[in-house]
Amino acid sequence: MLDIKDIRKEFPILDSQIYGKTLIYLDNAATTQKPLCVIDTISNVYTTMNANVHRGIHHLSQVATTAMEGSRETVRKFIGAEHSHEIIFTRGTTESINLVASSFGGTYLKAGDEVIISTMEHHSNIVPWQLLQERIGIKLRIIPLTAECGLDIEAYKRLFNGQTRLVSVAHVSNVLGVTNPVKEIIEIAHSHDVPVLIDGAQSIPHTRIDIQELDADFFVFSGHKIYGPTGVGVLYGKEKWLNAMQPYHGGGEMIKTVRFEKTTFNELPYKFEAGTPDYVGIIALGKALEWVDSLGIENIAMHEHELTRYAVEKLNTIPGIRIFGKPDGAALSFLIGDIHPADLGTILDRLGIAIRTGHHCAQPLIDYLGIPGTARASFAVYNTKEDIDIFIKGVERAVKMLS
Ligand code: PLP
Repeated sequence: MLDIKDIRKEFPILDSQIYGKTLIYLDNAATTQKPLCVIDTISNVYTTMNANVHRGIHHLSQVATTAMEGSRETVRKFIGAEHSHEIIFTRGTTESINLVASSFGGTYLKAGDEVIISTMEHHSNIVPWQLLQERIGIKLRIIPLTAECGLDIEAYKRLFNGQTRLVSVAHVSNVLGVTNPVKEIIEIAHSHDVPVLIDGAQSIPHTRIDIQELDADFFVFSGHKIYGPTGVGVLYGKEKWLNAMQPYHGGGEMIKTVRFEKTTFNELPYKFEAGTPDYVGIIALGKALEWVDSLGIENIAMHEHELTRYAVEKLNTIPGIRIFGKPDGAALSFLIGDIHPADLGTILDRLGIAIRTGHHCAQPLIDYLGIPGTARASFAVYNTKEDIDIFIKGVERAVKMLS
């Protein structure tokens, strides 16, 4: 069992006073707060080992390089990848998906080829494919939702044809907080010889990922959603795809030799890591994953599932409540009567309660639901039932004021 009181001590920001009230932070799906060990790691790298990585013969450069490559190994272990060179560091989920769209697209896709995504994708798993649509004329096929806001798997099966080249779907919806049956989705795609990208932005902080068991071809996530720093993320790709794909960005680090006549590219993972990487962030991300491991991701998930269950139970006592989908993770979206979510969010903010309102970068889903947006509460390991009690009281107060 986790000692949440103890864990909270690692997050000084949770003691912040917002308009005279102690912060209740329920916007974890947008970004998590950082434990002291991660913050200290950033400071420690700059104070004790800062030097550019990979190119230096001198001591500090070697220390920084070893620490960065140590983080790559930490990520490999964390998701159970076979090789550490299958771990590419990026700026985050968004950049990882853009990398695959550009490099997989540039290598394998031509006009008329099809990519399957779903109705509940984040914009970062829609727009990169639309850019390819404009650039090379691919087509997007969209998995519809069932009445319960889950992915319609029977309809998904019918989307495959001779032109299908890739499936790209979210593991967990950032709006609905529902977990998609990604193992089944991958098996179906593989039965058609089609590779699959899983957007793990919302699953990585709450779910044990065993990438080899899942058999995803690509898996992407952001460090800042799992207690790590901003500006660093991960693309996992199976070696066979990464080796075959053309590079994304050109520049230093990603080359073997450069001549004006011809340039040859570096091996994995460096082929996809042009320029100076955010080695400070990468080292701190490694620390964040070690910290999560020290608590046990299953323990974290159990605690968060209980918070979600408790929040759903409490919210359901409020007249006019609508909770969208069947949240089974650490986030839930709701509306109350015809109260605009932005009004609700503004009043909660005045009470020191941070939730997110709006379309959550998933406008097609919000349009499909026929609503102006939602209010979303999302939980992390440091949240408590007391946080939820205060949140519920805040919601009730806001409803009184707005009705
Ligand atoms: N995909 C999902 C499901 C998300 O929830 C998010 C962020 O909220 C992203 C992608 C984009 O992540 P980032 O902004 O860190 O690149």
